[in-house]
Amino acid sequence: LTDINALAEEFLKLSYHGLRAKDKSFNAAFEMELDPNLPKINVVAPDIGRVLLNLINNAFYAVNERGKTEEGYKPLVILKTKQVGNKLDIKVADNGTGISQNNIDKIFQPFFTTKPTGSGTGLGLSLSYDIVKAHGGEFKVQSKENIGSTFTIILPKK
Ligand code: ADP
Ligand code: MG
Repeated sequence: LTDINALAEEFLKLSYHGLRAKDKSFNAAFEMELDPNLPKINVVAPDIGRVLLNLINNAFYAVNERGKTEEGYKPLVILKTKQVGNKLDIKVADNGTGISQNNIDKIFQPFFTTKPTGSGTGLGLSLSYDIVKAHGGEFKVQSKENIGSTFTIILPKK
């Protein structure tokens, strides 16, 4: 059984410290709102870990991009978990660049990326979508340009 809170926290910190080590100008903040009563669930932990890491990396990238052009902006990534009925609701929210109306329908397509060559393969979300579906889960995204994005994964308890 996997503790999603521990997995998510581990990857959030890993991503954060990795980015800081690579780029001294990276100064995003993160917050965690983790349900202390979240049940442990039966998942393929490396796969779900990969999904979380990709969402977290995407979120930090989006806030970092927005920070390059906006004076006085406070970059923030928030990780949230909660139990809703017999499901787990896991959210990665950011106040980054957001996704345009034109691109929102494309982000789950393999190889779709808006990142410069070498920074993104465009495979993260398509792979993540397949992993979440294979676990009987759901994927949701809400996003507004220059406001931010919230990616939600709903996983069944069993
Ligand atoms: P990659 O990260 O390699 O570009 P992904 O499949 O992870 O590939 O994401 C595809 C695209 O979706 C990104 O290039 C970006 O345009 C958009 N995207 C994903 N997450 C976010 C986010 N949190 N904020 C803004 N855009 C995002
Ligand atoms: Mg990605």
